[in-house]
Amino acid sequence: MIRIAIDGPSGAGKSSIAKAVAAKLGIVYVDTGALYRTIGYFVRESGFARTDIEGIVSCLPKIAIEVRYENGAQHVYLNGEDLGDRIREPEISMYASAVSAVPAVRTFLLDTQRDIAAKNSVIMDGRDIGTVILPHADVKIFMTASNEARAWRRTKELQAKGMEACYEDVLREMIERDHNDSTRAVAPAVAAPDAILLDNSDMTIEENVAAVLAIIEEKCGGTV
Ligand code: C5P
Repeated sequence: MIRIAIDGPSGAGKSSIAKAVAAKLGIVYVDTGALYRTIGYFVRESGFARTDIEGIVSCLPKIAIEVRYENGAQHVYLNGEDLGDRIREPEISMYASAVSAVPAVRTFLLDTQRDIAAKNSVIMDGRDIGTVILPHADVKIFMTASNEARAWRRTKELQAKGMEACYEDVLREMIERDHNDSTRAVAPAVAAPDAILLDNSDMTIEENVAAVLAIIEEKCGGTV
């Protein structure tokens, strides 16, 4: 069993890279942001503002989240329904960031994340994987890139999904979300002291995948 933690700010390419590395190594890719997005979605659908902490907490008993892997892809079911790309909308990104700062939400999602890693070899991406969820991960990488590079990637990713996205809005919301995520009181998005920093601003996807595989190889040798 191997556990690889990939943390870093939004748009750093964590999910594309982690997905490719998981496929190469034949291990499970876990997108933990999807869990916070799912809760954010439920809170918005319930009509609560993202600043309404009591409202957010009151939603939790009404939420059952299940993570399934179907043909190698992660699907998150909210009360039995797979929301697909509905959780990728920019408004849901902001809701996800807001709900993720609420301690009860983080506690609510803790076991779901740890259970997956207890049963499978994983590469898990998020904000607090190396610090809170898997503090004993075999490999910890904190992946980042310049604000501009990240905002461009996010804009293109949204447009490719057929969603409306303008670079300036994406950049502004990304900076706000990074600020919320890295300054919140619980599980802030910071690098674990033993994480390896990887700035991929000037890397192609292939170079980035190769860099991550090289780090894993160096840390784990022939065990992968
Ligand atoms: O990674 P993604 O952009 O999908 O995450 C959405 C939001 O969920 C982040 O902005 C962050 O606030 C929250 N999150 C978190 N901890 C994680 C993963 C995501 O707080 N492990």
